[in-house]
Amino acid sequence: MKHYDFIFAGGGGSSLALLLALHNIDGLKDFSVLIIEPDPKNTNDRTWCFWTDHQDSAYPLVENIIDHRWTKINNVHQQISHLKPFEYIQIRSADFYAKADKILLQYPKVERIRDKVISLEEQKERLLISTTMESFSCDKLFDSRLPKLKSSELLWQSFVGWRIKTDKAVFDTDTCTLMDFEVPQNGALQFMYLLPTAENRALIEFTRFGSAVLSKEESVPIMEKYLAEMGITAYEIEEWEVDKIPMSLELNRATRFHPQGQRIIPIGLSAGNAKASTGFAFKNILKHSAHLAAHLHKREKQLPRPVQKANFKYYDQLLLRLLNQKPDLSKKLFVRLFEKHPLDRILRFLDEETSFDEDLQIMYQMPWLPFFWSIKESILHGGSIAKKDR
Ligand SMILES: Cc1cc2nc3c(=O)[nH]c(=O)nc-3n(C[C@H](O)[C@H](O)[C@H](O)COP(=O)(O)OP(=O)(O)OC[C@H]3O[C@@H](n4cnc5c(N)ncnc54)[C@H](O)[C@@H]3O)c2cc1C
Repeated sequence: MKHYDFIFAGGGGSSLALLLALHNIDGLKDFSVLIIEPDPKNTNDRTWCFWTDHQDSAYPLVENIIDHRWTKINNVHQQISHLKPFEYIQIRSADFYAKADKILLQYPKVERIRDKVISLEEQKERLLISTTMESFSCDKLFDSRLPKLKSSELLWQSFVGWRIKTDKAVFDTDTCTLMDFEVPQNGALQFMYLLPTAENRALIEFTRFGSAVLSKEESVPIMEKYLAEMGITAYEIEEWEVDKIPMSLELNRATRFHPQGQRIIPIGLSAGNAKASTGFAFKNILKHSAHLAAHLHKREKQLPRPVQKANFKYYDQLLLRLLNQKPDLSKKLFVRLFEKHPLDRILRFLDEETSFDEDLQIMYQMPWLPFFWSIKESILHGGSIAKKDR
């Protein structure tokens, strides 16, 4: 049975990000690696966007494959604001996968197979990994398969998106729309993204935060109407993007490091890298990858987790409970957030990088009633966001 230093269960965003991060610090040549992934990963199966001021550890990992940059945002009430010092960037996953393919080919000790991990067995000195075809052993497994999550504590960010090409030049390519809440809410929190990449090309994405997943049937008329209200009726749909991301506090961990000697290291969404109340994940995944790579390169005994500060975990809990049980009130909270605060503060708040003073300023401006309700529920029922029988 062949033995590797590292096996990756999954060869998607987080696995490739960790391998690229190791490559960037000249640390990949030291390890033998097997990537087990059922999918060929050669299409643009998603686009990743995040805001960056170029100072974070995520930016260098994607810097040379940025497909589009937006410097302005169409805020609530159709106000255009500059994103400075941030910009919002988009990466096509196909470019990310191709970049990783090219780099990984330089490493004879990095191998890939098209297969699925079906079971793991921890032994004293190693970990056994079985796929549908064969078995391998390794010192460490980086696992990006999503575990089963408790459905009562789980919401979904679900979306239906189109890449459209219009017959006329209609878009401002510097300005993105991130959360336009002026769409039907249908008992959840719903909003529209509009990300133009050329004067006649854009990604329009209808998004829901809620327990029920959006369907194409309910989304299409809303997207058509949204475009029609902008005077856009003649367009071709070039690609669809229909998917969902779990929003849950279950994957968040309170401690900063895995216990020494832990062989199975969750990465990506399964490590809790998606912010539970917004689903923003990719920047966290890249940052976690850079952090992990530095520890692996230095042969540190304990590997870092993406840890969330207790105050931000609590805010997420308050918001998820509202999204789950009183979605009509959550729209007010998001709109108020964008109305009342400078954009850079909001983006740092969503990145969990504001100071406690700034958090208090944000809370002070929020409609208090929904917050008091959610705080009362957390006192009565602990961290659960689920509806309780009265
Ligand atoms: C369509 C879409 C758009 C997104 N856009 C954004 C965005 O703009 N900004 C943002 O911050 N986040 C975004 N996300 C969320 C997040 O960044 C992505 O989901 C990201 O790809 C997560 O990385 P990952 O490695 O955890 O999962 P993945 O990239 O999904 O990789 C996991 C891999 O594991 C493989 N796998 C599954 N089961 C097995 C098995 N048994 N054995 C071996 N392999 C297996 C899968 O085939 C998959 O390739 C988006 C998600 C989706 C789905």
